Amino acid sequence: GDTRRHKNFKQQPSIASQTNFNSLRERAKFLYETRKKLPIFASAEEIRSNMRKNDVMLLIGETGSGKSTQIPQFLVDEAWCKPVDRVITQEDGTTKTVSVGGCIAITQPRRVAAISLARRVAEEMGTPLGSSSPASKVGYSVRFDTSTSPSTRVKFLTEGMLLQEMLHDPWLTKYSAIIVDEVHERGVNVDLVMGFLRNLVSGKREGRGGVPLKAVVMSATADMESLQGFFSEGLNTQEKEQAQEKAAGVSVCHIKGRQFPVKTIYSPEPVHDFVDAALKVIFQIHYKEPMPGDILVFLTGQETVEALEYLVNDYATGMDPALPKVLVLPLFAALPQAAQQRVFLPAPPRTRKIILATNIAETSVTVSGVRYVVDCGKAKIKQFRTRLGLDSLLVKPISKSAAIQRKGRAGREAPGQCYRLYTEKDYLALDETNTPEILRCDLSQALLNMKARGVDDILNFPFLTRPPREALEKALLQLLNIQALEETGQISSIGLHMAKLPLTPTLGRVLLAAVENGPDCLRDVIDIISCLSVENIFLNTTSEEKKEEAEVARRDLYRREGDHLTMLATVQAYAAENTDRKAWATRHMVSHRAMQSVMDVRKQLTTQCRQAKLLPHPDDKTASRSSGSTAPSPILILQSFLAGFATNTARIVPDGSYRTVVGNQTVAIHPSSVLFGKKVEAIMYNEFVFTNRSYARGVSAVQMDWVGQALARQE
Ligand code: ADP
Repeated sequence: GDTRRHKNFKQQPSIASQTNFNSLRERAKFLYETRKKLPIFASAEEIRSNMRKNDVMLLIGETGSGKSTQIPQFLVDEAWCKPVDRVITQEDGTTKTVSVGGCIAITQPRRVAAISLARRVAEEMGTPLGSSSPASKVGYSVRFDTSTSPSTRVKFLTEGMLLQEMLHDPWLTKYSAIIVDEVHERGVNVDLVMGFLRNLVSGKREGRGGVPLKAVVMSATADMESLQGFFSEGLNTQEKEQAQEKAAGVSVCHIKGRQFPVKTIYSPEPVHDFVDAALKVIFQIHYKEPMPGDILVFLTGQETVEALEYLVNDYATGMDPALPKVLVLPLFAALPQAAQQRVFLPAPPRTRKIILATNIAETSVTVSGVRYVVDCGKAKIKQFRTRLGLDSLLVKPISKSAAIQRKGRAGREAPGQCYRLYTEKDYLALDETNTPEILRCDLSQALLNMKARGVDDILNFPFLTRPPREALEKALLQLLNIQALEETGQISSIGLHMAKLPLTPTLGRVLLAAVENGPDCLRDVIDIISCLSVENIFLNTTSEEKKEEAEVARRDLYRREGDHLTMLATVQAYAAENTDRKAWATRHMVSHRAMQSVMDVRKQLTTQCRQAKLLPHPDDKTASRSSGSTAPSPILILQSFLAGFATNTARIVPDGSYRTVVGNQTVAIHPSSVLFGKKVEAIMYNEFVFTNRSYARGVSAVQMDWVGQALARQE
């Protein structure tokens, strides 16, 4: 199956990657006919006029109405959106001319959406994408992947990347407008973006020698209307008067979506294994329901997506050849670029697409052709475990609002059906809306970002939803522990460095600790951190039989020191494989797909460390790893990790179980770990997972001495 699908993909090169301007223009002209039919098109003039009069607009419109793709195009040619030359006085008294404004930023909660939207809008505007041509007008920027050109006017970026840009340019001088998309998702980063924006819009930037910054805040759900007050609350009396003089208030615009009826089919009984239940429903639809009509399945994460992908492909091999074929397409955040784009290609003739997605497809990404939705009713969400002081990913029931969004995906182009793999009673018991992430996650990254932006008074920051005081205090303590803050609460030089790395504060701390241990250690730590950025580099081995097979296949990769060094051995062996990496991966029961992502991240992190002069340039022969030298000791690598993870440790107790060093909680080594069933003095772990008991995942053996030293440095 896989090779066939791969070929299909290759036969249809992306139009935007061609630099033939004539064909780009032709394609844009063709797409214009489709664009004109989008619900938002009728409101184009109203939206332009609103934005001329006001600095802020709140735009509410259903998923698929055309918000993300069309709004930037409606605004980019407006007079207020042109770059303006300003003379500014520098600190030493001299003046220089700078260009202010001219670009539009559109933020997205997910990297997948940022990239696919940029690709689409580039096609619609008839321009090459990002760095592929210096004349490209549309680009994107996501963690570990930026593609822009000197002519970029429209830039899709993740919320985190906009926060990064603000660290370098607090006034966002390049931009004339910031469009905040999918604000209803309420991740921590969008709350921060909104807080910072409130202090930049409504004439606040003008005073700094710039031009006004405008903002459009977009939501797929109407419950975000309360945002209207948020911007005006931020103004003091004088500013309010000024805003009124210019009529620069907040306008609200509703876009009516196009929605066909969708029939809901509930599971009559509670479902215990939703992967299995989904498999049955998929083939029930495939056998009984007419074509065309693709199936979109909502699952919880990469693991369930891959498990179901395997089952569907396996079942399909035994299908009656007279039936239409099925084409299984996974869609999750850690999927390599090329595989993600395949979801948008039309199905080959007599083939039904089956898209297996995480909640990415809920509102961020619209795939055409879907008539059937299968909803498992769950999603993986980040939750802060106060007792343990860390975030963990938990599989939780979704909210009613999310269930309605998922169902809506089936009715975009024709009447559809939604199969809920839960009972109606369970549906009625769901929470109405998602809890904002800021109320349930570790705030250390958010606080580090605020501190780096010069926000000293965290408690008075304009939060969309104010997190509880204890959560803020806990995060401040954590930052203090990893030396990101000075005793005074000011950001430290380490902290500033950490804020600029595309990593969590903890992993940032690890990386900086590795810098002190020399370039060889740093390179190895980068390899391990790259592995930690994907869910699992190894193929799932749930059955006993498979487990034994894996033991043998991976024998030369396993390291007795634990999972960190096993990951290192795996990356290095994979990277050293020059002939057939895919075959190598299959032979070692390693996920080739995950390893491709790992290699992407590794390359980006290495480049970034070189740019920051943390790593020597590869041409600098004196500094590169000499073939005679021994590899850095595993001890140095693990000690670098302890600089960030000293509180993620547990020691063995006389009955042979492990108790956390901080908090004295019982924790077991996860069965996926190479240390599973082993008894060592102490363990350090990357994360906590909760299933029926508390598990440590990503585990390495450490010595209590080292833990003690690392904790002492935090005193
Ligand atoms: P909204 O932001 O309101 O959810 P979008 O602007 O994202 O709406 O989508 C508008 C339309 O553009 C959708 O119907 C979708 O089919 C199409 N579209 C969006 N992104 C892509 C893409 N990457 N490839 C193909 N079509 C796309």
